Amino acid sequence: MPKQAYVNGRYLPHGEAAVHIEDRGYQFADGVYEVVPVASGALVDEDLHLDRLERSLGELHIDMPMSRTALKLVSDELMRRNRLSNGFLYMQVTRGVAPRDHKFPKAAKPALVMTTRQTKPHSPQMLAEGVTVITLPDIRWKRCDIKSVSLLPNVLAKQQAVDAGAYEAWMVDEEGKVTEGTSTNAWIVTKDDKLVTRHANNAILNGITRISLLRLAAEEGVEFQERPFSVEEALEAREAFITSSTNFVMPVTQIDGKPVGNGHPGLLTARLRAVYEGYATGPEGNA
Ligand code: PLP
Repeated sequence: MPKQAYVNGRYLPHGEAAVHIEDRGYQFADGVYEVVPVASGALVDEDLHLDRLERSLGELHIDMPMSRTALKLVSDELMRRNRLSNGFLYMQVTRGVAPRDHKFPKAAKPALVMTTRQTKPHSPQMLAEGVTVITLPDIRWKRCDIKSVSLLPNVLAKQQAVDAGAYEAWMVDEEGKVTEGTSTNAWIVTKDDKLVTRHANNAILNGITRISLLRLAAEEGVEFQERPFSVEEALEAREAFITSSTNFVMPVTQIDGKPVGNGHPGLLTARLRAVYEGYATGPEGNA
């Protein structure tokens, strides 16, 4: 059976799935999304992702397209049809279809699309060597806490990273402090072994991996601080890493061409990755 997608009430072959040309997501980026990791055939932190979806929609005054229970049933059915074991589920909700006009349409119904993607495990080489990041000015709007499909600054920054031979770009605010990566949260481990990641407010997306990792770190007795850090502080740090639903915990060993710490993935990073992996693939993360 070819891979399927869910579009507004129907399961369709992925290649034939389509939305209307006047969908407001297409015309105005008037919508939000979630990327939910799938490990060992189960969604990781599904409830936290649905909480964030509901919050993002609420901030944009878009109704939930269906109840949470119904959303869970559709995602389970799509995963079953696509025999998804490891990878992710993508969910997108837009304000719906209406004649193009900036103001909210009166009658539009929220549009829901879901797709899945099977992915390979992270390459052992990448984990052994760590990845590289470059830093760029953060040119995004002031509501980065909403997981909006409007990702143009992120797309441009990521391409600049790729053009520079780097894996990710860390965006930097007007005070010289790192906000986050284009699709990841940014972390460092200071010389005195403090785990630091920026506090969650309108300047960043509060990653679900970030939320779970902070909780796991606390359970492990790892001290952490939620505060901004500068590029200079990151360059003086012992370790650095990024987190996201698709990267889990990924070591960063170079920033702007300069090594972080001894230039190799750090011990705490490796420990936190192992703890997170255990959580994501075990019953707790799939609860
Ligand atoms: N920050 C941004 C801008 C993102 O787009 C993402 C994920 O796509 C993240 C952080 C990490 O969030 P999560 O851990 O929920 O995947």
